[in-house]
Amino acid sequence: MQKWTEKRKEMVEQQIQARGISDKKVLEALLKIERHIFIPEGSLEEAYEDYPVPIGCGQTVSQPYIVALMTELLQLSKNDRVLEIGTGAGYQTAVLASLVKEVFTMEIIPELASSAEKRLKEYGYHNIFFRCCDGHAGWKEHAPYEKICVTAAPAEIPSSLVEQLVVGGKMVIPIGTWTQELLLLEKQEHRVITKETIGVRFVPMVKGK
Ligand code: SAH
Repeated sequence: MQKWTEKRKEMVEQQIQARGISDKKVLEALLKIERHIFIPEGSLEEAYEDYPVPIGCGQTVSQPYIVALMTELLQLSKNDRVLEIGTGAGYQTAVLASLVKEVFTMEIIPELASSAEKRLKEYGYHNIFFRCCDGHAGWKEHAPYEKICVTAAPAEIPSSLVEQLVVGGKMVIPIGTWTQELLLLEKQEHRVITKETIGVRFVPMVKGK
């Protein structure tokens, strides 16, 4: 629908480019992916607004700028395999999947995991693999990953996730409790380089039973 295409263009210009995101591939992905498909019926009009939107089960889909920033920070290549923790509605998953070879996404809430899987399959993505469980331990069977994108906030960096990155790989992750710092990690041969980016507020990364 023309209306949504225009709203997406406005979103990209006013919220994303205006704040300094310049990676062409990221901007193209945000222009193309229909964010309103991931938003519950009752909040449709808020699909392209500059804030997170509730998606049920007490969770939210991240603000468009945060999705763009995390995607840009990862410096994705088309042959990358990416692990994502916190599928939620699957919007960030779709952005990642449009730019890389494969995305392995984990979600702890069954209702969200199954509706995101159904939606992304209907939408035509064939390079996304889904798993419903606690993501703290990562997804060992498919490791290592070139990139890891964590969209729920743990208090500390889960060591299994660092282990599952290739040397030279990058991870973006919000760390903290009430408010968090969005960290960019780069794994090197014998150390991990950590950079602070901006303050953020994600839902907590909960521990599975
Ligand atoms: N990226 C999502 C928004 C993420 S909201 C989107 O674009 O829609 C964060 C998600 O992380 C929530 O759905 C929450 O249920 C999930 N989550 C929280 N703790 C988790 C854990 N330990 N493992 C996997 N998913 C988790």
